[in-house]
Amino acid sequence: MSKNVLVLAEVRSGNLRNVSLEALSAAKQVANGGKVIAALFGSDMDSFVTPLAHYGADQIYLIRNKQLDIYTTDAYTQAFTQVIQEVKPDAIFLGHTAIGKDLAPRVAARLQLGLISDCTGLEVNGDEVIFTRPIYAGKAFQKKKISAGTIFATIRPNNIPIGDPNPNGIASTVSFEAEIKDIRTVVKEVVRKASESIDLSEAKIIVSGGRGVKSADGFKSLYELAEVLGAAVGASRGACDAGYCDYSLQIGQTGKVVTPDLYIACGISGAIQHLAGMSNSKIIVAINKDPEAPIFQVADFGIVGDLFEVVPLLTEQFKKV
Ligand code: FAD
Repeated sequence: MSKNVLVLAEVRSGNLRNVSLEALSAAKQVANGGKVIAALFGSDMDSFVTPLAHYGADQIYLIRNKQLDIYTTDAYTQAFTQVIQEVKPDAIFLGHTAIGKDLAPRVAARLQLGLISDCTGLEVNGDEVIFTRPIYAGKAFQKKKISAGTIFATIRPNNIPIGDPNPNGIASTVSFEAEIKDIRTVVKEVVRKASESIDLSEAKIIVSGGRGVKSADGFKSLYELAEVLGAAVGASRGACDAGYCDYSLQIGQTGKVVTPDLYIACGISGAIQHLAGMSNSKIIVAINKDPEAPIFQVADFGIVGDLFEVVPLLTEQFKKV
């Protein structure tokens, strides 16, 4: 049976987030010929209609409201709940981002819906949808089958292939007035760290440093390698706790969860809490001078050596490519 699927289209720093396109791709599979509807929030979102149509949206709800320009829990919860009540979708997808993690459970609770969070894959089998999601900090995967009721899921970034855009794709638009009141928080200013130029959670390549990097200065060589590779820089909690870098770079159980195509771990031992954030990376390269370091157990390629020699060598070699 075909389904109508609603996707929250997230915009960050003036760009549609990749994970929203991944959610659209998941929506197309589940829709099975039904309608894929994207919801765009904010006062100036019209420029995203065409890209969303190219990536599979059939209809786009524009919720034009200045109070939705910057995410606040209250405003988005009210607006998204109202859109869902209007559209009455069979399935709802959001990215498993900071916004998705905050918003989805609240909306699900308000609408008395079940929620499957942090999905890394899905299969459609007739009317059933089977989601895969990591459990026990990524040590195992669980499959959840939904065969009735409204499907509500958040999608982990970098897991569902986006597919090629269709430059002829078109979508109808619907202007939707959301009633937003009693906002308890006001965001006065958003200050982004320079390190956030490439979003860690969506980065295809991450160069990550641990306590073995030894100082904030030591991170310079990681940034140089990252620049040559077009990568984001991440860190272990060990490195953050030691003050070598900002906590916004922390990857792991209590940091960001990442799934890049390539993760280069430099001077990171591979504690279970770090692995929880990166062990699902497609290819893991570990550089560590201790051949017994646990990181080598999850690494596809291991270099036993001093990162201060290996990292500059890699940078030189990649510059030549
Ligand atoms: P270390 O374990 O000290 O490892 C440093 C490594 O660098 C060693 O393997 C060493 O051989 C290597 N090394 C040293 N010098 C060099 C060199 N010159 N060249 C190459 N290699 C070198 N950790 C996280 O990362 N993320 C989390 O989200 C997180 N959450 C946590 C939550 C809880 C509740 C707890 C209890 C812990 C958490 N931790 C987390 C901490 C975690 O347990 C580890 O302490 C931490 O990951 C260790 O960081 P590290 O690997 O950088 O440091």
